[in-house]
Amino acid sequence: MGLIEGRFGDNILITSVDKLINWARMSSMWPLSFGLACCAIEMMATGASRFDLDRLGVMFRASPRQSDVMIVAGTVTMKMATRLKRLYEQMPDPKFVISMGSCSNCGGPYWEHGYHVLKGVDQIIPVDVYIPGCPPRPEALMDGLIQLQAKIAKMTLAKQEDVVA
Ligand code: SF4
Repeated sequence: MGLIEGRFGDNILITSVDKLINWARMSSMWPLSFGLACCAIEMMATGASRFDLDRLGVMFRASPRQSDVMIVAGTVTMKMATRLKRLYEQMPDPKFVISMGSCSNCGGPYWEHGYHVLKGVDQIIPVDVYIPGCPPRPEALMDGLIQLQAKIAKMTLAKQEDVVA
């Protein structure tokens, strides 16, 4: 899509292409499979048979190069923060981030005295959806994924800045 990207305003052709591409993207969100702490157990439970993320087209991938969604599930320590940023940078564009749980959102129980914990993953990478809770239940993660789908549905090729905003 690089040839037409950003070269046309809204029109019937572009908006139809937008709808098609957005439908494909929101129907096949592939998160990078990695977890950081207790929230990751809830993320794994969400992917297992009881909740079954496959029906939303969400399939965990083992490589950042095959993933377009990063679910930051757990405590981001200072030591892990640099690794997490590197994984994010290895993901192809457009990419999305879900911050799952209080630790990832703001430091969680470590927000005041946890000298070793990042006080919010949005200090190092942009976050699209925040999910509150300690830990959030699988239903909350599914709701977060549906919120992300709604955000992807509004993306346009003509205005790529909308994608990241
Ligand atoms: S938010 Fe709570 S459940 Fe999630 S990683 Fe932090 S301490 Fe664990």
